[in-house]
Amino acid sequence: RFISLEGGEGAGKSTQIRALAAALRQRGLEVVETREPGGSEGAEAIRALLLTGGADRWSPRAEALLFAAARADHVERTIRPALDRGAWVLSDRFLDSSRAYQGMGDLSDADILALHRIGSGGFLPDRTLFLTLPEAEATARARSRDGDASDRIGGRDPAFHQAVARAFTRFAEQEPGRFLTVDAAGDSAAVTERLLLALQDLLP
Ligand code: C5P
Repeated sequence: RFISLEGGEGAGKSTQIRALAAALRQRGLEVVETREPGGSEGAEAIRALLLTGGADRWSPRAEALLFAAARADHVERTIRPALDRGAWVLSDRFLDSSRAYQGMGDLSDADILALHRIGSGGFLPDRTLFLTLPEAEATARARSRDGDASDRIGGRDPAFHQAVARAFTRFAEQEPGRFLTVDAAGDSAAVTERLLLALQDLLP
């Protein structure tokens, strides 16, 4: 099974991926933890291009193409081979991040989906778990972590983060079978339990 986790900064995606992977391994499953942009050698090289040099390094269209190219390599070299041998794959972000981040400016949602069809045959997660947190709590958490040396992460205004959150909320409405919203507030172990519950019908 292929599961992606989505959410704004500070929602706890990376912590929860680790905890969820441990819980699934306890059930005897092979689990591959991965992330976007990145997750394969080529895609990690593209990640370095995307996350350095400042937010304005790339034109919006070039940026969307780089994300799509990274995703194509990630799917072909990491995700599909793992699924073919029966492993579960948990990805920190996937296509829906591109829909939320690159698909709300110069490019439309339909454009991002078209790039994904060309790059990755339209390959979708079996389930996408969207971690939601009130803006104030997310900001506080994001500030207190010592993060990735990315210079793209901070420095965006609340309106930007709200637009991203609205996009994810819309995806949940459009695809209720695949895209589920999970409350990320409170105790980390409780959040992991909620995530497992949201995967219950997929578990062996
Ligand atoms: O939260 P995370 O560490 O995954 O943040 C990575 C950053 O990369 C996000 O804040 C977002 O601005 C950016 N990103 C993006 N488009 C994607 C994936 C990530 O702009 N498809």
